[in-house]
Amino acid sequence: MTNTYKLLVLPGDGIGPEVMNEALKISQCISELSGVNFVIEEDEIGGAAYDKYGTPLADETLNKALSSDAVMLGAVGGQKWDDLEFKLRPEQGLLKIRKELDLFANLRPALCFESMVEASSLKPELVSGLDIMIVRELTGGIYFGQPRGIEQLPDGSRKGINTQSYTTSEIRRVARIAFELAKKRSGNVTSCEKSNVMESGILWREEVSYIHENEFKDINLSHMYADNCAMQLVRNPKQFDVIVTDNLFGDILSDEAAMLTGSLGMLPSASLGEIDSKGMRKSLYEPVHGSAPDISGKGIANPIATVLSFAMCLKYSFNMDAESDIVNNSVNKVLSDGYKTVDLIGDDKKNLSTSEMGDQIVSEIRKNFN
Ligand code: NAD
Repeated sequence: MTNTYKLLVLPGDGIGPEVMNEALKISQCISELSGVNFVIEEDEIGGAAYDKYGTPLADETLNKALSSDAVMLGAVGGQKWDDLEFKLRPEQGLLKIRKELDLFANLRPALCFESMVEASSLKPELVSGLDIMIVRELTGGIYFGQPRGIEQLPDGSRKGINTQSYTTSEIRRVARIAFELAKKRSGNVTSCEKSNVMESGILWREEVSYIHENEFKDINLSHMYADNCAMQLVRNPKQFDVIVTDNLFGDILSDEAAMLTGSLGMLPSASLGEIDSKGMRKSLYEPVHGSAPDISGKGIANPIATVLSFAMCLKYSFNMDAESDIVNNSVNKVLSDGYKTVDLIGDDKKNLSTSEMGDQIVSEIRKNFN
């Protein structure tokens, strides 16, 4: 088994460096306890990269990302850079790194920690034990299809156009990721599209079925229309294990599912690409939240989304499933002991700063490691 992994860390802007600091504490602790060595290199992205290199993602940073085993990212953006021309804005750094690493699958877990059951907008019995993984196709579909644009019509009115298009290979590669994930979980995949009204949906259903028939017969596959899936997520979310869907439906369904579980400060994500020459998948892990300028520098940001993103990195890039579970369980234990950051509105006496929350998780990990 490999004993060394190269991890590129891009803290970014606002609360990015604050929350990343805590994920780094966790990585140091896991490295010490497991004997696996993480060679960590830090660089800039977003506004911080613009300040240092004059661009939101420098070529040398991108090259480091391409030669790393995984990338961890904090968040980008802030008022300071709002007036820059479009191509220099912090968000362009994020879009560029996703594109250059060809990260075609976005993984968003919706995991409800027992201690957070009451924070959900659904009844506790509907979300207690909830553990869904949404796999969204990220680089194709209607956000990228041609033709697109706004046309002037002869009668003076205008027409807006976007095109939904998917190819066999785009569908098959994301379907494979969903089936592989299901193998590590409860073995069920639900594929969502609108094959009742869209040809691209018919192709989606046929290609996902093809991969299932030929490569993953041991996994249960069901198909569901995306609008029905949106309803089922609030009616009975625990019926799902892995959901795989296109870019547009995934955008909406992943936000809906994530919010079943509580706060923005708790939501991790992973974006995965192709397997490289070393047998490693290109990958980027980041919290769902942004740079939160309103609380930046106050030391009160919730680092859990970033810590859980690192737990995903352990599982999906480094094959360290046991260690990943220990990080997740430790977060759950810290929360159920009543320790919260301000966004989780915990018991005042146990409200922790960003750094105290990181320390508390580290101390719990140490107790759980055999
Ligand atoms: P945001 O996610 O930064 O913040 C929304 C609200 O949630 C704020 O009140 C913030 O204080 C709170 N919040 C977010 N993360 C938190 C955490 N970890 N702990 C406690 N509270 C937290 O979204 P926004 O305010 O719409 O955007 C702010 C900036 O972030 C903008 O420049 C935007 O472009 C950028 N942004 C970046 C990303 C990214 O880097 N992936 C994503 C979204 C927004």
